[in-house]
Amino acid sequence: MTQATHLSAQQSKTPGTNRRMWGLDSPKMDIDAAHLVVGAEGTVRIPLPAYLIEHEQGLVLFDTSMNPLVCDDPGLVYEEGRPERDMIIGDPEQRIDRQLATLGYRPEDITHVILSHTHSDHAGGLYLFPQAKFFAGPGELQWQAGHGPSTSHLFNPTDFSDEVKAFDWNSVQAPSQDLFGDGSIIMHHTPGHTPGELSALVRLPSRNIILTGDTVHLREAVEWGEVDPSDWDYDEERASIAKLKQLRDSEDASLWIAHDPRDWEDFGGPLQEIA
Ligand SMILES: [Zn+2]
Repeated sequence: MTQATHLSAQQSKTPGTNRRMWGLDSPKMDIDAAHLVVGAEGTVRIPLPAYLIEHEQGLVLFDTSMNPLVCDDPGLVYEEGRPERDMIIGDPEQRIDRQLATLGYRPEDITHVILSHTHSDHAGGLYLFPQAKFFAGPGELQWQAGHGPSTSHLFNPTDFSDEVKAFDWNSVQAPSQDLFGDGSIIMHHTPGHTPGELSALVRLPSRNIILTGDTVHLREAVEWGEVDPSDWDYDEERASIAKLKQLRDSEDASLWIAHDPRDWEDFGGPLQEIA
């Protein structure tokens, strides 16, 4: 940890805000809702997104979507037999590098990357940002490295190449860590989906938003306090859902559930500037 920041010094001051943020357009996946929340029904077309936050001290990504090559052809990333080959719907314009270009940025402009967790639909673009400072939750990278065959379908081994593993990785302190020391982005440890799952409170001039990673996948998870059948630890997960709700209420914030298409509609869709 090179830049431990101390919230106590900030608590008496009005917290800082980011300038603006965007949810980026991304490839989508058709998936059975019951695979996302126990008890949910039907098929849902979920985005596999990343978010860009502009702060006066840097340009921050929350997650990096899937490997951008899936937007050209899922067969370039997933070998024969992997269901992703048929489940992913992408367009080359949805590549994370093209999305950044649409907003006038290059991959090398990114200064910080917060990784909600190490699954392939969040970690696929990490390799594009070798200059950035990376933040993962406590124990997440070690857990990813040691995962067994029963969860291997959730990972893409090339996401954590030797090159990516050698990036400037920083472990976030539990229960939370202030990225810039001004209160504008607070990373919260919300374990359960994975051991090091992270959510982030993002303060903007007009509103506060909580990016939830995969702590919840669909609105039903929040309403019912219900887990995803593939979660790592169901008890931890239920406690983290309760924590998200408490944070939402205490910070007067809105949750933005990354994989829920209804949330994307409510926030104005991809590339909608929020300030
Ligand atoms: Zn996910």
